[in-house]
Amino acid sequence: MGLETRLPDGILLTSVERFVGWSRAGSLWPATFGLACCAIEMMATGAAHYDIARFGMEVFRASPRQADLMIVAGRVSQKMAPIVRNLYDQMADPKWVIAMGVCASSGGMFNNYAIVQGVDHVVPVDMYVPGCPPRPEMLLDGILKLHEKIKSEQFVERPRRGESMRDFRQRTGWIDPDPATPGVALAGTRATLPQARR
Ligand code: SF4
Repeated sequence: MGLETRLPDGILLTSVERFVGWSRAGSLWPATFGLACCAIEMMATGAAHYDIARFGMEVFRASPRQADLMIVAGRVSQKMAPIVRNLYDQMADPKWVIAMGVCASSGGMFNNYAIVQGVDHVVPVDMYVPGCPPRPEMLLDGILKLHEKIKSEQFVERPRRGESMRDFRQRTGWIDPDPATPGVALAGTRATLPQARR
């Protein structure tokens, strides 16, 4: 459970947020999770040459309950989308998501009925890494930019536990998805997620 759920709304938290953000940025643990070819580059990022251990992140956790960073490495099929959301919901709060590569970010060249056109229809994405596939340097760059984002983040910007993408987008001013568009059925809640962006 994140610290934000323990604190009352509306009080000035600038110094607390800065300190908590600094400590969170230095202790990210990614989930062991790869969907397609981009995952090979993600594995290379963890290997000796690129050495993600320099940032304290070498322990790719085998359980989502011990991870707070999801790197979506590869295209997300319609069938896989509910599982991705399930894994996200099982991860420890607070948690962050990197969409690695054009497929995870926007569907990429797979503009068809089988592939979700961007994993941000399913989970809230904090950082998009372009490329097909992105090189390990690009993923590291995305991770370092995410560190900076976490350091300057306000508690109110974080997704709340169990919050649907629709509620999160409305609360934080993202584009309101079209509720008439049919989407992916989510395990657990059975809510549907729209697949088309405006
Ligand atoms: S972005 Fe390229 S390398 Fe990555 S999953 Fe898509 S096709 Fe594969």
